[in-house]
Amino acid sequence: MQSLKERIVRDGVVKAGNVLKVDSFLNHQMDIDLFNEMGKEWKKRFAGKQINKILTIESSGIGIACIAAQHFGVPVVFAKKSKSINLEGDMYTAEVESFTHKNKNQVIVSKKFLNEEDHILIIDDFLANGCALQGLIQIVNAAGATVEGIGIAVEKGFQAGGRIIRNMGYSLESLAIVEKMDWETGEILFREQ
Ligand code: 5GP
Repeated sequence: MQSLKERIVRDGVVKAGNVLKVDSFLNHQMDIDLFNEMGKEWKKRFAGKQINKILTIESSGIGIACIAAQHFGVPVVFAKKSKSINLEGDMYTAEVESFTHKNKNQVIVSKKFLNEEDHILIIDDFLANGCALQGLIQIVNAAGATVEGIGIAVEKGFQAGGRIIRNMGYSLESLAIVEKMDWETGEILFREQ
């Protein structure tokens, strides 16, 4: 998506450790017009899929997922991060290692909000090694629901997640795929899509 790529080049900051900072428009301050365009684009890319719910993960996926949901006319469920190990039996759980914080979180979704009749679009802001997505997929599978597609705002194509998720057979639509970025020069190159 051209406007997202242009925005990343204009306002994104490449940090050491393969981190792209986009907090001025994506995951701290949020540009809702841009989110709206992203939602419209996913709706186009997943046309024909029967989607009745969007699933995302706390916290930076939530804003993007909510605006996208308006284009699909469906509710959003977000997986909550929980440190507690005494989880009640009425939750689906998965362990997710955070790329940015390097710690492990249990993520939980109440069984009330996901079941075998659900056809899910998973949405998240970033795809790096794919840990967050694999946790969400595990939760959908545990509920007996179906993953209809996965929408990512920014995929870092030089990390393994995209390849792993596509090899698993999922329909993954990333709106911008960063092929290469250099924290010393600030250069960001995108994959042709
Ligand atoms: P993964 O689980 O694919 O390794 O990482 C995805 C998660 O880590 C996303 O939910 C996102 O919040 C965070 N993340 C990964 N890479 C970046 C990055 O370069 N910049 C930012 N801001 N967040 C990232």
